[in-house]
Amino acid sequence: MGKVTGFMEYGRELPEKVSPQERKKNYKEFVGLYSDEKLNQQSARCMNCGIPFCHSGCPLGNVIPEFNDAVYKKNWEEAYEILSSTNNFPEFTGRICPAPCEAACVLGINKPAIAIEEIEKHIIEIAYEKGFVKANAPILKTGKTIAVVGSGPAGLAAAAQLIKVGHEVTVFERDDKPGGLLRYGIPDFKLEKTVVERRIKIMEDSGVVFKCNTEIGKDIEANDLVKDYDAVVLAGGSTIPRDLPIPGRELKGIYFAMQFLKQQNKRVSSLPVQQEDILVTDKNVVVIGGGDTGSDCVGTSNRQGAKSILQFELMVQPPKERNLAMPWPQYPMILKTTSSHEEGCQRHWGVNTKEFIGDADGNLKALMLVDVEWETDFLGRPTKFKEVEGSIREIPCERVFLAMGFVNPQYDGMLAQLGVNLDARKNVDAKEGDFRTNVGKVFVAGDMRRGQSLVVWAISEGREAARKVDQFLMGHSVLESKDNVDMYENSYS
Ligand SMILES: Cc1cc2nc3c(=O)[nH]c(=O)nc-3n(C[C@H](O)[C@H](O)[C@H](O)COP(=O)(O)OP(=O)(O)OC[C@H]3O[C@@H](n4cnc5c(N)ncnc54)[C@H](O)[C@@H]3O)c2cc1C
Ligand code: SF4
Repeated sequence: MGKVTGFMEYGRELPEKVSPQERKKNYKEFVGLYSDEKLNQQSARCMNCGIPFCHSGCPLGNVIPEFNDAVYKKNWEEAYEILSSTNNFPEFTGRICPAPCEAACVLGINKPAIAIEEIEKHIIEIAYEKGFVKANAPILKTGKTIAVVGSGPAGLAAAAQLIKVGHEVTVFERDDKPGGLLRYGIPDFKLEKTVVERRIKIMEDSGVVFKCNTEIGKDIEANDLVKDYDAVVLAGGSTIPRDLPIPGRELKGIYFAMQFLKQQNKRVSSLPVQQEDILVTDKNVVVIGGGDTGSDCVGTSNRQGAKSILQFELMVQPPKERNLAMPWPQYPMILKTTSSHEEGCQRHWGVNTKEFIGDADGNLKALMLVDVEWETDFLGRPTKFKEVEGSIREIPCERVFLAMGFVNPQYDGMLAQLGVNLDARKNVDAKEGDFRTNVGKVFVAGDMRRGQSLVVWAISEGREAARKVDQFLMGHSVLESKDNVDMYENSYS
């Protein structure tokens, strides 16, 4: 524990952000860094609790009090080693994780939680600056070959782990650049692509081979991969978006969120955009869906200069504070106002879209909406809704982005060729902790197995699946697992 009285002396502070008016002018990241003194104070707030609930809040089992202590003492290399023992990519989670660890922080019971995510970002940025983050190519090779399909955080984490123990790893990616949603989903203003590229370069230098523009199931028959490699890890994500099949869906001007976001990410990286330009400059925009993806559409629309932005959510507005249904240390489903919302957007809850209305040329010109009322159960959880009489109305709108989540992975192509079993939600079936499909030597990790989730979960699954692959190939594994995280805790306490 850095400073015994730290949690009483210092309050939670976050680094300064560029003002919404300024940051909307470009796509750059806008969250600053702490001064040395502030970083020291923020790490001093950690109480090194007897039972650190933050560990169990973090899907990676990050050893948080130990790295806070090392940061307080300015032992940067030690802080980096502790953090990287459980997390391959703290530069991603330190920027875009919703930080369930902070929701579980013991200090959070009656004071603002430790700024764990920010401390994590500082540790890794200092580590890069000081040259601690190096390629990791072992001299001893096992001679085993592994194909990883998909280069999102799950595939990258699996590859990073497997290369460490001497296997030959090839990552196949159907997009033109590696990174999955880190590159083509999450906008640059949350995660600049130079941060992704910096990590890919370290991985390449460690020996990971990336084969982009290669779709397994189309460019390469999936069963050939199984024949040619000693093991295969499927990490293709959950890519089928939820649609809104109401009258007028065929009109021009209605897009899935990912069509819009991917295109803008390519533009920012000066990469060619193949489809028609989806731009919202001077347009009235409606984003349907209240989650992270919807919020990214809001931030992107503001940067493109939209005339107006409305965001609709069918569910009721979440509570501002924890209630009986979400006691500490559970992750609270409370009202979240993202940095994109701060930049300008009207949010409405309990709204259902009934129809898209077009002009004579088939272009979207308006939406027909209705307010809905939800019934709730004894814990205040919404159960079913009914329309509010007399609330049907029309609003002008030329662009709609559907951001209602992803239903499941794409089955046609790779999964169909392999004949993998699916679970009830049509994700690839493999138990958590096992990661092995019904097809011999084929494993699965990330959103493709657990359904649409978070980057931190994808990294966690990639790491755990890599361990299972290593055990399958070698009979045992020295790779870290969150189940043996105590090993690190003990060695650093
Ligand atoms: C717009 C948006 C914003 C988000 N924001 C956040 C956030 O702020 N914080 C957070 O924690 N999470 C966020 N998420 C969720 C997070 O990005 C995902 O949970 C995570 O990326 C899943 O990782 P993955 O590796 O399983 O899959 P993905 O990142 O989806 O990567 C899968 C990759 O596999 C490739 N692929 C698929 N099939 C094949 C094939 N047959 N052959 C070759 N390649 C294939 C795909 O092209 C893709 O590159 C966001 C998601 C979206 C859509
Ligand atoms: S990865 Fe996310 S949950 Fe884990 S310590 Fe970092 S911010 Fe917290």
